[in-house]
Formats: sequence, C-alpha cells, structure tokens
Amino acid sequence: MKFAIQSKGDELSEKLKVKISRYLYGFDLVCDEDEPDIVISVGGDGTLLHAFHRYVNRLSETAFVGVHTGHLGFYADWTPDEVEKLVIHLAKTPFQVVEYPLLEVNIRFNGEEADKRYLALNESTVKSMEGSLVIDVIIKGDRFETFRGDGLCISTPTGSTAYNKALNGAILHPSLSAIQLAEMASINNRVFRTIGSPLVLPEHHTCILKPVNDVNFDISIDHLFLTHKNVKSIRCRVAEERVRFARLRPFPFWKRVRESFVRD
Ligand code: NAP
Repeated sequence: MKFAIQSKGDELSEKLKVKISRYLYGFDLVCDEDEPDIVISVGGDGTLLHAFHRYVNRLSETAFVGVHTGHLGFYADWTPDEVEKLVIHLAKTPFQVVEYPLLEVNIRFNGEEADKRYLALNESTVKSMEGSLVIDVIIKGDRFETFRGDGLCISTPTGSTAYNKALNGAILHPSLSAIQLAEMASINNRVFRTIGSPLVLPEHHTCILKPVNDVNFDISIDHLFLTHKNVKSIRCRVAEERVRFARLRPFPFWKRVRESFVRD
C-alpha cells in the first residue's frame, strides 16, 4: 500500500509526520506523494481540506484519515497518542472505507470563457465584490426567490459543522446525500423577502444561482477563494464523486458533534 502524509507544517505536526512515516516504513509501506492509496493528514480539519484538494483528481483511488495535533476535528479524529495503533490498523489492509457526499459547483460565464467545475468537501460561498449580493435562486428549474444580502453558503453534510453552523444551518448526518443552502444576513423588509431558513436539497435537486447584476463575485471552495467575472450562473448539486475515509474504528458522527460542541 502506498501512503502520503499531509502535515499542517507546525513543529508538532512535522514531528508526528516523521514518527508516522517511520512506523509505516517498518511495515514495508511505500511513500508515494503522487498516487497514494491512503493520505494521512496531520494537523486539523483545515489540513485535511488541503489534502483533499491536493488529491481531488483521484478520489476513487485515495482514502483519507486525519490525526489532530490541536483540538478534535470532524475529519481529524485520531489523537497523536494513537498513531501507533492507527499505523497497525492501516498496515492490516484492506481497511474499511466510508464514503461521504461532496458538493459540485459549476460556473458558467457570459462570453467565451469555458465552464469551471469544482468539488467542495465543506462548502462553497458566494459573495458579491460590490455591495450586497443580489442573485436569483432557482431550485429544480423553478425560480424560488431573489436573494439580497451578504452571501450564500452551500455546504455538504460533513461541512455542515463548519461555516454553515455559524450561519445557524442544521447539522446534517453525512449518510444523507444532500446539500444545504444557508443565508448570510439576508435583507428582509417590505420590499425584499427571502425564505430566511436554511434549505436542504436532496440528490438531483439542483440549485442554480443567477446573478441579477453584472458584478464580480468572490466564490470560495472550502479554503480557496476565487474571483470570477462575467458569471452567468452557478450550479450547485450533490456531486457524483464521493470522498473516501478510512474507517478503522467506530467513532459515531453524533458523538463527534457532542464532543466538539457540547460541554458537560
Ligand atoms: P480557518 O479560518 O483557519 O479555520 C476554520 C475553522 O473551521 C478551523 O477551526 C477548522 O478546524 C474548522 N473546520 C474546518 N472544517 C470543519 C468541519 N467540517 N467541521 C467543523 N469545523 C471545521 O480556515 P481553514 O482551516 O482554511 O478552513 C476553511 C474552512 O473554514 C472553510 O471550509 C469554512 O468552513 C470555515 N470557515 C468558517 C467560518 C465561520 O465559522 N464563521 C468562516 C469562514 C470559514 P481545525 O482547527 O481543526 O483546522
């Protein structure tokens, strides 16, 4: 089995990276940064986002596992003390894999520019670079509303505990093949009105965002921020691809939610 290790880059994560590599070599595993079967992310959830985008073109061949060197993460749920156990589990291939839904974002442009397609593990956000975002929201082919406000966040189930949560979105169990559309400070008065609640869309229910004005947009894909001009439409839906995580021991999602957010 071929492995790669993505480190956050701080001293503790780098030390742990060396330790994990040494253990893995001890089991005759091979390091392959280009075509790994397993990617071990050492740092936090943010580090796993970087690892995901590094290997986004080989999701059907690569599985991920995360070790946290700070606080418990949703993707990074192994502690530094457990790395020996983790390596022993990994060496005993084939390990069990769980697959989680991803968000597909397709941007179309006015003019000649070719469409752009992105996959997000957490979410995509859409904001205007010039004042409030004014955008038509079309769900499954029908105009749902014209959104006016700071922006919109479209998240995956595993991303629902990240930015989406700060927007009062619901936490979705990752076994649900769905995406969630949450508002950022919508303008609601006698003239402008939006639903005001987060919407959860199942697979095959596409959400298309169509700009009302010709402005530049800030569109984020996880930690990546991209500026787009001449945007005709932004299509969001559950992606056909899924992300694969190595499941080496049970750690139920709701337990992770509780341990991350609820204090006893
Ligand atoms: P960052 O701003 O340095 O850190 C964002 C925080 O979100 C970190 O504490 C990170 O955990 C945590 N996080 C990432 N994915 C998560 C998940 N699925 N569930 C729960 N927490 C999660 O940015 P970054 O590290 O590059 O990560 C980019 C992410 O930041 C975006 O995808 C977005 O979700 C999130 N973000 C959140 C807000 C907000 O909550 N208001 C605003 C902007 C962006 P670790 O410390 O373990 O890395």
